[in-house]
Amino acid sequence: MNRRSFLKSTAITAGMLSFYPSLEQLKASDAKDFPLLDLHVHTTNNFSVERVLQLGKERGVRFGIVDHPAPWALKDDNDLRKYIEHLKNYPVYIGLQPTYPGWTKNYSSELLSQVDYILMDPQMVPQGNGNTWQIWEYDTYIEDTDDFMKRYMDYSLQILNNEPINIFAWPLFLPVCIAKDYNKLWTEERMQALINAAKKRNIAFEINDMSHTPHEEFILKAKAEGIKFAFGSDSRNENVGRLSYCKRIAQKCNLTKDDFYVPTMHH
Ligand SMILES: [Zn+2]
Repeated sequence: MNRRSFLKSTAITAGMLSFYPSLEQLKASDAKDFPLLDLHVHTTNNFSVERVLQLGKERGVRFGIVDHPAPWALKDDNDLRKYIEHLKNYPVYIGLQPTYPGWTKNYSSELLSQVDYILMDPQMVPQGNGNTWQIWEYDTYIEDTDDFMKRYMDYSLQILNNEPINIFAWPLFLPVCIAKDYNKLWTEERMQALINAAKKRNIAFEINDMSHTPHEEFILKAKAEGIKFAFGSDSRNENVGRLSYCKRIAQKCNLTKDDFYVPTMHH
């Protein structure tokens, strides 16, 4: 019996608690042997780091904040420097979420070395004709599933093999129109290719709380290869740190703290 459940049962015996435990008490009584760390959090003009930290306190979760090193967000060194200096004031991991291969050449290595971790997803898949699928959009149009899967795998492997990342985000997520075929499309061979590539470069897989991916089978395969995991809500609202799918599947897969990637904080 751990300390918390001991205290709780003592309290119940002593009649200090009502018969039915509150939702909070039920949550607190879940035996967890892994860190509650949400490494995929965005802030906005209306959703500040202060608010993120307040929610973290209530939910017992720590955070990593990310922003995009891209023309529409952190467009250059100046923006990146301001971003890092701002976040250094808070007890959060400082992360980046690049959106296209080769992005590092637009930033100085001195600044990039001050970032605690880099997370990248394969959600902007090149179609081969100059266009990209943005596969999080519900109206993503797939004409030929086999062709899409081939290009999706190629792009995923390009990121896993070449980009300087710590976390591969949104693994195994599929566009809505083909999502019903998840178990058929994620063949043994495809899953193994992603796992081999991540293993070779010591890249962790995100367990994504928004999309409920990846599934148990993939997590267990990756875990067996010694690959680490990171929880990610990819939220910019009150959903930060809720982590309901993450916690549930991590418990089901018996993940422990050694199975998790934790960045090094530079500040
Ligand atoms: Zn994101």
